[in-house]
Amino acid sequence: MRNIALCHPKLQLLAGRLIEECSKQGYKIAIGETLRTVEEQDALYAQGRTKPGNIVTNAQGGSYNSYHQWGTAFDIFRNDGKGAYNESGQFFEKVGAIGASLGLEWGGNWKSIVDKPHFQLPDWGSSTSGIKKVYENPQVFMKTWVKEEKTGWIKNATGYWYRKADGTFPANAWHIINNHYYLFNRDGYMVSGWHRWDGKVCDPDDGSGDWFFLDNTKDGPLEGACWHSKDNGAQEIWFVAQENNL
Ligand SMILES: [Zn+2]
Repeated sequence: MRNIALCHPKLQLLAGRLIEECSKQGYKIAIGETLRTVEEQDALYAQGRTKPGNIVTNAQGGSYNSYHQWGTAFDIFRNDGKGAYNESGQFFEKVGAIGASLGLEWGGNWKSIVDKPHFQLPDWGSSTSGIKKVYENPQVFMKTWVKEEKTGWIKNATGYWYRKADGTFPANAWHIINNHYYLFNRDGYMVSGWHRWDGKVCDPDDGSGDWFFLDNTKDGPLEGACWHSKDNGAQEIWFVAQENNL
């Protein structure tokens, strides 16, 4: 299969960086093989043994000896019109070095079967014996994959919102983050400046509620401090120094 989206989230990230970095340095590459099924691996193993061609792998399908079967490897090919595996200009050595600099293991550095188009995550060791000890087989391993989504403050065109570790975000709520109060509106965006709060809702439609002023001057002495209008019209500041309540 040739879809990088079938692979480990970290590998997807690094594959994207590799393409980008290679392109910057003038090497046009594209992703070839990614995740390999047992049948696909067996067909590859047959090559050079029971089928014509050169031997390209020592890994049989059922052995899970190829990281392609674990979703942590991909192959690239040359995509500049000069031929997919044309090695002129030390093309694969150059790309391999870029991949290694990004933290990928490059098959061109292997001894037994040199595999210049191949890259894999080095996290579980060069051979699959390490990953097999921990996860037994790719099915078990893939269940542990989590989408690496950014948590914490996220800025978009509308403003700042906050993704919690469980994937939800605060809306119509106060939260203490980094020892500061923040008020989130009904859409989940942090508000700053003057806003009303009636105990449940940020800026209620009927205009009720007390006034609050939130200073979001980044790294300012009052970042996240909150002015609260008292009954007599005076202003009171909430400084907080307590645990986050997210
Ligand atoms: Zn490969």
